[in-house]
Amino acid sequence: MDFRYTAEEEAFHKEVKEFLDKELPPGFLGIDPGPEEESRPEIFEIAVKMWRKFGERNWIGITWPKEYGGQGGTIWKEMVLLQELAYRGSPGMDLAIAQGEIILHFGTEEQKKKFVLPITKGEVKWAIGMSEPNAGTDTFNVQLKAVEEADCFVLNGQKIWTSGAHNAKWCMVYARTDANKHLGLSVFIVDLKSPGITMRRITQATGIPAFCEVFFDNVRVPKENLLGKKNGGWEILLFAFGAERTYGLFTIYNGKRYLEHLIQYCKETKDADGVPLAKDPIIRNRLAQLAIEMEVGMNMGHELNWMASKGMPTVKASSQIKVHGGAWCQRLANAGQQILGLYGPLNEDSKWVRLGGRIRHTYISSLSFTLAGGTTETTKNHIAGRFGLGLPKQV
Ligand SMILES: Cc1cc2nc3c(=O)[nH]c(=O)nc-3n(C[C@H](O)[C@H](O)[C@H](O)COP(=O)(O)OP(=O)(O)OC[C@H]3O[C@@H](n4cnc5c(N)ncnc54)[C@H](O)[C@@H]3O)c2cc1C
Repeated sequence: MDFRYTAEEEAFHKEVKEFLDKELPPGFLGIDPGPEEESRPEIFEIAVKMWRKFGERNWIGITWPKEYGGQGGTIWKEMVLLQELAYRGSPGMDLAIAQGEIILHFGTEEQKKKFVLPITKGEVKWAIGMSEPNAGTDTFNVQLKAVEEADCFVLNGQKIWTSGAHNAKWCMVYARTDANKHLGLSVFIVDLKSPGITMRRITQATGIPAFCEVFFDNVRVPKENLLGKKNGGWEILLFAFGAERTYGLFTIYNGKRYLEHLIQYCKETKDADGVPLAKDPIIRNRLAQLAIEMEVGMNMGHELNWMASKGMPTVKASSQIKVHGGAWCQRLANAGQQILGLYGPLNEDSKWVRLGGRIRHTYISSLSFTLAGGTTETTKNHIAGRFGLGLPKQV
């Protein structure tokens, strides 16, 4: 197998790297994948600028059809871009690609024109309204109710953990339109500025408020904003999990940079006896182990992308890399904290901070990598079940 980029992809990779060198602030240390960019205004400002610039270059939705603003390009080309963005920790990684793909798959012609084009131009931010206080892993337990009236659906209820809702224009809301647990969900595209919507920010363990609770009080959603069929939400839900297939891979590319920084730190730093950390057998062993596991994850990513490029089902492959990538990042941050020792817990404001305090941040934020987009336990259930090992349902 040859995993090298083609000459054309190599040229695109160079273009992306040069673009990031020019557009990211000098000495930018990067952010973690996930909602970090939502909650720090100075980072969100960069993210908005990056979306616009990606849009101008036609880099959002590279694989999407040209008539909806895409390039009709290959998955490989898109991966060249997304992997480099993840590696550099660039703001703007959240390009609403998953939402665009869902609309392209289930939307009407009007919805595709109205909602997908602004995504490809980098003009709007989206949020996902799946989780509720009693519907996380058990998504089919969604209780937020949508009642059909003559010209609209009226929504009442609550969502939680809605990343970046405070910055978003639209939210893809999963709502109950029938009592039947699995066949009673529908999906609505909701304008988050609609009357009847209120929000409350939730602060994460990292100290940044990236999430919202979103409350719906008689929110009127026009009928043309129903996505797919009424009570057909189950189909969109399954597709949505697939559309997030690359999350695990991005945690690995993001962590690759931290691993490189740690290796450099160990080469440059001496212990109390004046011996370089890089000569310590335990540290060498930990770094080598992390490097092996990183390579495994990247190869899993190549396989996943190859399967996607051939139109093969990717549930098992994307679930595997999600489990591996999240746990690997946690092991990486754990090793990093131990290597940094007493410098580890310092944040970026301390004059003694090492590596910009990023390892400390990842140590805390990576706790969420085994939760967001499906917990490790449920993801393993998917791998064990009918899309993977074919085991019968658990008792
Ligand atoms: C960083 C981050 C961003 C997020 N962004 C969004 C967002 O934008 N929009 C959104 O809607 N949601 C979002 N979420 C919510 C996320 O989807 C949920 O946290 C996740 O689905 C788990 O649900 P829960 O937190 O209610 O945990 P629970 O479902 O209550 O699970 C608690 C624990 O029990 C385990 N468990 C549950 N059921 C089983 C089972 N059947 N078998 C074995 N173990 C089980 C779980 O694995 C977990 O360890 C985000 C979460 C995080 C961490």
